Amino acid sequence: MSLTVYLNGKFISYEQAAVPVEDRAFLLADGIYEVARVYAGRPFALDGHLQRLARSARELRMPEPDLAEIERASLELLRINNLSDATIYIQVSRGAYTPRTHAFPAGPITPTFLIIARSFTANVKLWEVGIKAVTVPDQRWARCDIKSVALLPNVMAKQTAAESGAQEAIFVRDGFAIEGSSSNFFAVLDGEIRTYPLCNYILGGITRNVAIDVARKLGYAVREEGIPVEALGRCTELWVTSTTQEIMPIVDLNGRMVGNGCPGPVSAALHKAMRELL
Ligand code: PMP
Repeated sequence: MSLTVYLNGKFISYEQAAVPVEDRAFLLADGIYEVARVYAGRPFALDGHLQRLARSARELRMPEPDLAEIERASLELLRINNLSDATIYIQVSRGAYTPRTHAFPAGPITPTFLIIARSFTANVKLWEVGIKAVTVPDQRWARCDIKSVALLPNVMAKQTAAESGAQEAIFVRDGFAIEGSSSNFFAVLDGEIRTYPLCNYILGGITRNVAIDVARKLGYAVREEGIPVEALGRCTELWVTSTTQEIMPIVDLNGRMVGNGCPGPVSAALHKAMRELL
């Protein structure tokens, strides 16, 4: 059975879903997106994702998306497609206009609005063995807090990781390891959990918030402060957080073992506590 998606207010089959060739997301990366996770048929932290989408729209001066419509359509897609463990991909672009111009088109904006929900199974094995990561210079723009589809530096960083046999690339800016190419970055340094503070240089991850909350509830000290690159070798644990990876331990950074080369106790405790929330 074909997947049903939601495009511009209609439920249609994946094969029939099409957008104009001059859509601004296609030509100019002028669009925003979200990825939310569904566990046993129930979206996790959907409200957080919707609020972040609305914020991205405001920051880019796009019309505010109808969050109630997105929620309704997402739940309906889960039902129609009979999905249990899944991801919900939401994308809004500024729409399609002729001729191509960089500045916003004159007149009212009709965004292109897409939701795709599809089956997703986490790679459980990776939580047990951890992943490898490499550091790369951060070549992104200075508004990484906006979840925009302009992801080319992230694409290049992830490809660098893949070609080094690693699963994630950690961006380094001004001497600090700030976040992953599709994740937030955490460390245990001098007995404290550290992660880069919320600002324009990183995405305010929904999973980052969950991880900080559960860490504080479990009594860990969490310091929202950058991790200097030269301190990475002293960190006893490293991990990344994201909607799809949850809390993923890094056991090898730039070819050097992290801790004893196995997932550490702090990330394991946080992940266990997070899983209990689900
Ligand atoms: N940073 C970046 C650059 C990302 O792409 C993502 C994943 N969307 C994250 C952080 C993690 O965000 P979240 O926990 O909301 O998935």
